[in-house]
Amino acid sequence: MRATPDTSARPGTPLLVDRFGRVATDLRVSLTDRCNLRCTYCMPAEGLDWLPKPDLLTDAELTRLIGIAVTRLGVTDVRFTGGEPLLRPGLEDVVAATAALEPRPRISMTTNGLTLARRAAGLAAAGLDRVNVSLDTLDPKRFRELTRRDRLGDVFTGLAAAREAGLEPVKVNSVLMRGVNEDEAVPLLRFCLEHGYQLRFIEQMPLDPQHGWDRDGMVTAEEVLAALRTAFTLVPEPGERGGAPAERWLVDGGPAVVGVIASVTRPFCAACDRTRLTADGQVRNCLFSRSETDLRALLRGGAADEEVADLWRANSWSKAAGHGIGSEGFSQPSRPMSAIGG
Ligand code: SAM
Ligand code: SF4
Repeated sequence: MRATPDTSARPGTPLLVDRFGRVATDLRVSLTDRCNLRCTYCMPAEGLDWLPKPDLLTDAELTRLIGIAVTRLGVTDVRFTGGEPLLRPGLEDVVAATAALEPRPRISMTTNGLTLARRAAGLAAAGLDRVNVSLDTLDPKRFRELTRRDRLGDVFTGLAAAREAGLEPVKVNSVLMRGVNEDEAVPLLRFCLEHGYQLRFIEQMPLDPQHGWDRDGMVTAEEVLAALRTAFTLVPEPGERGGAPAERWLVDGGPAVVGVIASVTRPFCAACDRTRLTADGQVRNCLFSRSETDLRALLRGGAADEEVADLWRANSWSKAAGHGIGSEGFSQPSRPMSAIGG
């Protein structure tokens, strides 16, 4: 569905404001919907119907849109994701072009880490500031079952390479699921403390293409915290949380911290500062939006930068107050997480 929002009440600011007073400054860019893992909660074993190649933004189109976001719309943070962003051959060039923008945004990436060992140094040199590596289990057999690939060792070497390349802090993202890996909260935190990685647990959201999510299968933030407290003392980290989704806790007095992202049980929609660009050039104002705005067609139709910026602003203006998971009338977006950009 395409958005045609009414913007008559929108104030005349260049920023990505919405009707609820939020300002989007954090851009998530999906570089591809493809992946070299098949995490059971994200993709079926056979993969998905990948986006057709001609629909994908070229590196030049992508770089132009990121430039518009940073120089005209006030975006200060750019995160590359997917699918698996390391599958995009031109990634280093896109990162370098992003780092050359004025004002320079902070640049990060969310990755499964499989090929990070050979890319981390080059990406850091191109201007990547930091990474989040997804890792849900430390057990090789479980990793094979969960991701349908035998690649746990590659994630470990990828993580180490990220640290050596100075991509600080190296964060680890974990999703716990009942009956799958719910017993790994403590081992995952021990592992991250030992290696100097910053761990964040993320509640599982209804974004899987199989529509298999159910609330009871999700391990809640409260359950994660209870499990961690059996082995560590956790004290809320002092200071403002701002738009950051993670609630952060000092572990055993600090300085190490652990984050918990309670996207479902304690949504942070009221402080959301995100806007999203899919690999095929659609802007979304929420992971869960039911509509998106086609910037690719505009680019390919010869539109000027300010015209593109205006359509992006209109998309933000139409952002809903919250995702509404659990409320009557909630329905999953038709795009799965891997095609939106997690
Ligand atoms: N392939 C990269 C990776 O795995 O880090 C980037 C894309 S992946 C979709 C981004 C993050 O979304 C991963 O940390 C993954 O665990 C998480 N994720 C995927 N499906 C999810 C869901 N239904 N709920 C919560 N997180 C999910
Ligand atoms: Fe791939 Fe990331 Fe989805 Fe796993 S979570 S299948 S690594 S896109």
